[in-house]
Amino acid sequence: ESADVVVLGAGPAGLVLGILLHTAGIDCVILERASRTHVQTRARAGFLAPTTVRILDRHGLADGLHRHGRRHGTCEFRTEDGRFRLDYGALGHGGQHHVYPQQHLVTDLLNHYLGLGGRIRFRTEALGVHDTDGTRPSVTACEPDGRSTRWTARYVAGCDGRYGAARRSLPPGSVRHHAYDHGVTWLGLLAEAPASLDAVGYAIHDHGFAGHMARTPEVTRYYLQWERGTPADAWPEQRIWDELDVRMRAAEHGPLRRGRLLERGVFDLACDVVEPLRHGPLFLAGDAASLLAPAAAKGANLAVLEAEILAEALADALTRGDTAGLDTYSDRCLEHIWRAQEFTGWMTRLLHAPPDRDQDAGSFFHAALRRSRLASLRTSRIHQDWFAENYVGV
Ligand code: FAD
Repeated sequence: ESADVVVLGAGPAGLVLGILLHTAGIDCVILERASRTHVQTRARAGFLAPTTVRILDRHGLADGLHRHGRRHGTCEFRTEDGRFRLDYGALGHGGQHHVYPQQHLVTDLLNHYLGLGGRIRFRTEALGVHDTDGTRPSVTACEPDGRSTRWTARYVAGCDGRYGAARRSLPPGSVRHHAYDHGVTWLGLLAEAPASLDAVGYAIHDHGFAGHMARTPEVTRYYLQWERGTPADAWPEQRIWDELDVRMRAAEHGPLRRGRLLERGVFDLACDVVEPLRHGPLFLAGDAASLLAPAAAKGANLAVLEAEILAEALADALTRGDTAGLDTYSDRCLEHIWRAQEFTGWMTRLLHAPPDRDQDAGSFFHAALRRSRLASLRTSRIHQDWFAENYVGV
């Protein structure tokens, strides 16, 4: 089988890319390992940056987001020195987030793509990308019935995440892989409960970080810093809520609305960047290109931005033979990626004690630095503007 562009993965990156290519008249197919139901129900991101909304608007993909998403522009830090709020939507460049669960966005994108007549194969796992040293790459894939197929293409877009086939297929030595582990682990929770505060909540506590993020009127995301290696189900619900109360200082600042925990997942705050984002006719976008720790909510936003840049470059190459966009794709995206990595690293250091705090003689020093950093953020308008610009930027 063949297509001009074979796209691996139907997350935000693959679907935006598929839609834009299809709209530009390019013959493409998306191969997706999971079922349609799984893709449409996988809860992950929720905070969409102004750039993302502009991109989706530009291509008529933001109807659901405008109808059901909510604008959001405040975060609250809770520390041993009390709490303070930053109305980041009124600081910096005045950008706000839209809160819209990623699975709803993915559902909208998928419906749009299918409505255009776009081709997608669910439960079809890409096994490898081959012949990337030439001009006619191919993808081997396992079909739902276990048969294997080979797709030939002019270009392959790896939008299949960190553990996908695209990364695995890069020949040894063809790219550099920069990995960094922040040494922190989070337990991510989805609670069947309305939000407890009208802001993103970041609690900094001796027990570790706790976070609160709105999702929908009925569902709220919470995070607890978690001991690495401990399974997600190690604590009963009651203990989790009690610990959230302690770290969010509920006794001081008001109770948390409790509810059934719908989902738990453990995430190591590790990140990486592949450089360049290309080997011959194989291009990487989204988490396949770079993984970010979720502390600053950048991953889905970068995925959409990179998909738009790649779609334009592929359309230029396939319709006009102009490969200038493909040649600069990696450099353009890496500029955004490193900026997002830098801010995410800053946020991660702001929210957590260093992992070695118990044994480390420098633990007091690090705690004092963090306290001072928070004091600067609380009091310095210039620091607040910098924060706001980076917090909503991609
Ligand atoms: P994905 O969404 O991972 O999609 C990749 C697709 O490829 C998947 O559908 C997968 O099934 C498929 N696939 C994998 N391997 C294969 C294969 N071999 N063959 C075929 N298909 C394959 N980002 C934000 O911007 N804001 C947030 O608020 C935020 N919160 C987050 C919270 C959590 C708990 C987590 C885990 C992440 C969060 N992120 C956030 C990050 C964001 O979810 C990801 O960065 C985003 O999903 C990346 O999109 P993608 O299209 O590159 O990859």
